[in-house]
Amino acid sequence: MRAHEARHSASDRVKESSRLEFKPVCLQPTYIVILMRILLAEDDPVIADGLGRALRRAGYAVDHVASGADADAALASQPYDLLILDLGLPKLPGIEVLKRLRARKSALPVLILTAQDGVEERVRGLDAGADDYLTKPFALPELEARVRALTRRGTGQPRCIEVGCLSYDQADRVVRINGEMIELSAREIGLLEVFVLRVGRLVSKDQLVDHLCGWGDEVSSNAIEVYVHRLRKKLEDSGVRIVTVRGLGYCLENPDVAQASKV
Ligand code: CA
Repeated sequence: MRAHEARHSASDRVKESSRLEFKPVCLQPTYIVILMRILLAEDDPVIADGLGRALRRAGYAVDHVASGADADAALASQPYDLLILDLGLPKLPGIEVLKRLRARKSALPVLILTAQDGVEERVRGLDAGADDYLTKPFALPELEARVRALTRRGTGQPRCIEVGCLSYDQADRVVRINGEMIELSAREIGLLEVFVLRVGRLVSKDQLVDHLCGWGDEVSSNAIEVYVHRLRKKLEDSGVRIVTVRGLGYCLENPDVAQASKV
């Protein structure tokens, strides 16, 4: 996408999409789901509160449920990128939630939380299709590292995504311009993540709102404009532009898209 296209109206873009020279990548169906949305199923309010806050601070959208039945209902009706599942849950045991999830043929990454002495429970969890486990009490940095590893595996994306001279390390959630790390808030990183995974594609405001907030969080459409404005300023030196597609949303454009894996 060229720089001058930024000035085009939404209807111009719709017209362009029917021309042969329009990049085929822009015509792909939007099969990539909204990324990094976590369901936290934990009935201990202290653990749930601490975990939820830490994960939101790290830029994830987190929905919390305190019973197995609620977890099962949420998983059956909403798309997630990761389930953090306490096995000792009221109404429906965590292991049953997991079995039902796998019975629905879901490949959702699942991290189970178990008591320190629950070796058998852990084994049953892994046998039932969990991807990883953590024993309580656990250190938050360890949990965050496991969450990063599992969500990265789920997306099938390379660890490092490059767009021009901008690079985004998905594991460490670090952004660099020409190798120099730049400082972004958790929400700015959350936004950038959506954009770099969809270079050249339209991203609607609703998608950005969905990505940034979990239940109980309010992110207005106006707030999205403020975050995008700040992000644009911070990306000024990279040559990478976030273009407003009037009435539709935004698009991260780059004249020479270069994605590379640097695992
Ligand atoms: Ca519990």
